[in-house]
Amino acid sequence: MPVYEYYCSHCRTKFEALRPMRAADDPIRCEHCDSQRTARVLSVFFAASGGADGEARSLGGGCGCGGQCGCGASHN
Ligand SMILES: [Zn+2]
Repeated sequence: MPVYEYYCSHCRTKFEALRPMRAADDPIRCEHCDSQRTARVLSVFFAASGGADGEARSLGGGCGCGGQCGCGASHN
């Protein structure tokens, strides 16, 4: 079961919860103040994938194949 991160706008605290994927966006009570003013935080997964993209881009132009796949990378 995946871990989701939630943010409570009542006490301004983040907390995590283990939930089935289909229940990820269901209402959940804050574990600190028991408020239902919570929202799922999407940053964990997307921050991780964005970091991977940044790493690939820093390797140089084109797709990094050295010109062998016809992507237009300079090889002359
Ligand atoms: Zn709270």
